[in-house]
Amino acid sequence: MLIRVEAEGGSEEGVWSDLVAAGCQVRRGGGGRIVVVGGAERAAAVVAGRPGVAAERLAVPFKQVARAARPEGTRVRVGEVEIGGAEFVVAAGPCSVETEVQMEAAAAGVAAGGARLLRAGAFKPRTSPYSFQGLGDEGLHLLAAAGRRHGLPTVTEVLTPEDVPRVAAHADLLQVGARNAQNFELLKALGRVDRPVLLKRGPSSTVEELALAAEYVVEHGNPNVILCERGIRTFETATRNTLDLNAVAWLKAHTHLPVVVDPSHGTGVRDLVAPLAKAAAAVGADGILIEVHPDPDRAWTDGAQSITPRALAALVDELAAHLALDGRTLGPGPRAERAADEAIGRQRGRIDSIDAALVRLLDERARVALAIGRVKSAFGRGVRVPAREEQVLRQVRAATADGPLGSGAAERLFLAILEEMRRLEHLGEPLEALEALEIGPPRRALGGASR
Ligand code: PEP
Ligand code: MN
Repeated sequence: MLIRVEAEGGSEEGVWSDLVAAGCQVRRGGGGRIVVVGGAERAAAVVAGRPGVAAERLAVPFKQVARAARPEGTRVRVGEVEIGGAEFVVAAGPCSVETEVQMEAAAAGVAAGGARLLRAGAFKPRTSPYSFQGLGDEGLHLLAAAGRRHGLPTVTEVLTPEDVPRVAAHADLLQVGARNAQNFELLKALGRVDRPVLLKRGPSSTVEELALAAEYVVEHGNPNVILCERGIRTFETATRNTLDLNAVAWLKAHTHLPVVVDPSHGTGVRDLVAPLAKAAAAVGADGILIEVHPDPDRAWTDGAQSITPRALAALVDELAAHLALDGRTLGPGPRAERAADEAIGRQRGRIDSIDAALVRLLDERARVALAIGRVKSAFGRGVRVPAREEQVLRQVRAATADGPLGSGAAERLFLAILEEMRRLEHLGEPLEALEALEIGPPRRALGGASR
């Protein structure tokens, strides 16, 4: 059950303490909402008939991560990178940390390719006990060092509750792998750590089970959870898994957590990664997690689904174009910067034509001012008419009040224009009159008073 206290209706703290006193278990939602996680019947009785207090039943079994509990959505920070905001985030790197040389090449390629997080596994959950199990602690160190060298926050998998502290000490985002999707002790341990968590969907988990796994982490104290669709097991065998893009749209609608997509494990096929990455962006995912290896054919794990840094760069360019259709971007980074440079170039063209028009209008204004000046001096009138200047400035103020020049900038610009115009009008006047006006013309103009 979800309870919202309207601002004018009463005190949220009062409702909160009444619910606690009645034995309800309550948690904070977004925007002053109270999430009742235990004792819904009693809570309904507590708030029944209270003015300004709205209560609604949740249609889903998860509560704190339900979209209704925080309709504005959650943004999760990983180092300097924010996931769940306007920017689409690409996390990339090899399936496994192999060697220092491999990690350096991978991290350099990932950074240059436009990804913003570096992923790589140090502890690998393998189907066969005879397969490479990961470098363990050494892998954590190599990953952290490569991330530091290239300014990329890191993502890596943690397999057991006992490993949580040491993985958290080296990585910026802790991944729960598909095979651990319902390892509840691991989820509880991740609730107690001060690091964001990336929760992968189990190959046979429903979306509801994935959201409930996230609920475990949040209930145990960690609100920074990102969900990841990585493909599920179906009757289809042409691809390693079936990437369930329905899940992305469903999770975005029914939870407030960021959702990312892993098209590498979702397809298991290198050539299918780019099309499914673009599909992920189109369906509203907040980012992707993809396997990138400097030499995919020689990768120790998951080479068949890994792409090269060059393919990553091409994909990121394509993603930027696709995201732009939705008004989204890829955030900062060399590739995004190049796109920004192109945008700046186009705006500079506009500035140039605006400048040309401004100069033309100023020139025309000067001609008119000169003509007025000539008439004034023919009739022996002073050039400066303060009331008229005040009128011009009033018009300027009114015309620019709501724009970027509103707080005095337009007036300062116009004062400078008026001063130059007066100078021009003075050019035909005798020198004594100019001195009396304290705004004498430029020195070189004095000799040309006969003009
Ligand atoms: C991985 O990210 O390399 C991995 C093992 O993924 P998953 O848990 O989705 O299979
Ligand atoms: Mn992998």
